[in-house]
Amino acid sequence: MKKKYKSKDAYAFPTLVVCAGEEDRFPYGAVTKPIFQTSTFAFENTAELIKFQKGDPDKYLYTRYGNPTLKTVEEKMAILEGGEAGLVVSSGMAAVSTIALTLVSSGEEIISTEPIYGGTYHLFKHAFSNLNIKVHFVNPEEIDKAKDWVSPKTKLFFCETPTNPNLKVADIVKFVGIAKKKKIPVVVDNTFATPYNQKPLALGADFVVHSATKYLGGHSDLVAGVIVGKKKIIDQARETMKVFGGCIDPLGAFLLLRGLKTLAIRVERHNHNAEKIASFLSKHKKVKRVFYPGLPNHSQHALAKRQMQGFGGMICFEVRGGLKSATKVMDSLKLFINATSLGGVESLASIPVLTSHYGFGQQELEKADVTPGMIRLSCGIEDADDLVEDLRRALDKV
Ligand SMILES: *Cc1c(COP(=O)(O)O)cnc(C)c1O
Repeated sequence: MKKKYKSKDAYAFPTLVVCAGEEDRFPYGAVTKPIFQTSTFAFENTAELIKFQKGDPDKYLYTRYGNPTLKTVEEKMAILEGGEAGLVVSSGMAAVSTIALTLVSSGEEIISTEPIYGGTYHLFKHAFSNLNIKVHFVNPEEIDKAKDWVSPKTKLFFCETPTNPNLKVADIVKFVGIAKKKKIPVVVDNTFATPYNQKPLALGADFVVHSATKYLGGHSDLVAGVIVGKKKIIDQARETMKVFGGCIDPLGAFLLLRGLKTLAIRVERHNHNAEKIASFLSKHKKVKRVFYPGLPNHSQHALAKRQMQGFGGMICFEVRGGLKSATKVMDSLKLFINATSLGGVESLASIPVLTSHYGFGQQELEKADVTPGMIRLSCGIEDADDLVEDLRRALDKV
């Protein structure tokens, strides 16, 4: 018996994360999707191979082209983001580069919000410049300026929201509005928010990309990426992925699938913990500024409330006394682990000027509104009071 959970209205999100895309009980009635850890697939006879070549979706040739474990992730993610089709790839950067290189060719242009994830910035600024693809950057707080860069060469609008590290919010509806006037596709990096908190496709975007390494996997034990959107372009993106080679291993896809099933309860807890921690930090006398879209004094709180269902687990705050104080706090934390990355069950802390923004000049730091006293937190799913206590003790050392 095959049950289909295709309709996004039939079940609520916490139900869909568990059951969507999992309707095949193959083989042997297996309740969880097995790891099809195989590079290649046998055909009973040549007629079966011809079925594959004619597009039979239940036939497989070679894992870089497709694999049942990967397909389950793709179907689940398409449903969770409310898109027609999904593509799972080897990393978040593979997701960004695959969709961008599917939509944009040499001699054409991209308009992107900035600040943006460091890897994406390097891809756009340096690797794409070598391919003669020009990227114009706009500040998400002045998103109307995207209009100034639109030309017949513009083939992609790219935006990331909320941003790293200081949680700026880009107005997706406004960005989409500018792009749609010229029928330019919009890609949103939804890594920080997750589909639990933000649904870019419902706000008019055409594609969503994720570093599934973060919240989707959720356990800091895999590297993966996902793209969701219109089937026609996702099919083309699969061709791009096939030739550039950024396919994921079946074991990685299985771990991602396992992580996804608890996405709803994890993000609920991440949201809850971050709200408590942001509120604590915002009242602490040794803390100069707190960046969290859920705080009423966040400069874009009203916008965040409009386009997000929850405010996520990421917080950035600035300790009074600069890098010396920030270092003292970091080295005094016991529960928060000094590590980069985000979105796992364990709480992490990092100093942006020593990680994502290491080596940036004074001017570049000012432009990004990143200061040496800043600490970025990825609030995990531990007890909120324990996490607050950890921060209180560490701040007492300053
Ligand atoms: C981590 C991250 C990426 C890159 O993902 P990888 O899985 O590390 O390749 C892209 N965008 C955002 C917002 C990220 O946080």
